[in-house]
Amino acid sequence: MDWFYWILVGIMGLCWGSFLNVLIIRTLTQESIIFPPSKCPHCGNLLLWWQKIPIISYYILKGKCNFCSFPISIQYPIIELAGMIIFIFAFITNVSKVDAISVIMILSMFLVLSYTDMKSKKIHPIQTYIIMIAGIIFNRYDIINSLIGGIMGAGVISLFMILGLKFFDRETFGVGDILLFGALGCVVGFDKLYIFMLYALLIEFILIMPKYIINLIRLQQLETLKYLILFCGTCLFLYFLKSISFFGVKVVLLGVLISMLYFGLKLTKNIIYLLKNAEIQSYCPLAPAIALSCLFFLC
Ligand SMILES: [Zn+2]
Repeated sequence: MDWFYWILVGIMGLCWGSFLNVLIIRTLTQESIIFPPSKCPHCGNLLLWWQKIPIISYYILKGKCNFCSFPISIQYPIIELAGMIIFIFAFITNVSKVDAISVIMILSMFLVLSYTDMKSKKIHPIQTYIIMIAGIIFNRYDIINSLIGGIMGAGVISLFMILGLKFFDRETFGVGDILLFGALGCVVGFDKLYIFMLYALLIEFILIMPKYIINLIRLQQLETLKYLILFCGTCLFLYFLKSISFFGVKVVLLGVLISMLYFGLKLTKNIIYLLKNAEIQSYCPLAPAIALSCLFFLC
């Protein structure tokens, strides 16, 4: 019966993924998730039942609308598969059904938020509240830790937002980011909040770096680029050096640490200058990085 159980979980996951597709599309178009029924975004014809079966319909229709042959986005089967993976992951990693359902809600909402944030900078508040509630239920034996985690996560980012407005005269973080970090706090709890916030910011750093470097080259900010490379280089060097320990290394370690701080300071100074002069500005969606950090926690 075991295989039957997992097939059932997989099918439920595919159907759930199909619902997540609707949620993504309707969040982007700001329509209700219940009405109107699913239709082709190009010709507007309502979809028939056999055109709404996860994965299979995409295969039968060969990725094209049955009425107008308009290509169906590859997003649909990908999100459906993601729904299946989330279901199987949640039921493998959690014996308790309540925990499994909480994990499904947390990862699904993060998936939707990541997509809408990347696509059109949209963070739907209700989706972050669902993560908060699911996080509190997931931590129901340690509710205080979860609640303080949520408050602190949102609080720290609010503080950064206020400081950003005060010193740089621009929004460093938005209300959506405050809600996202609050949601992360409810899931990981206060005791692990700082480490997973740090992971999220580190992932964000890695994700936005290519775009940032291209921007620096385009603006011919070669000095900033130089400090950026030196800073990252010394960070990496320090990381590998710390695992070796004999006396000689300690002196080198100190030298590397001092240079890292120096390059870091120079880099910060340059970036603050660029931010103040509004030469470099690109919206950096935070939802995918926070979602990945949360996934690490749940693994
Ligand atoms: Zn069509």
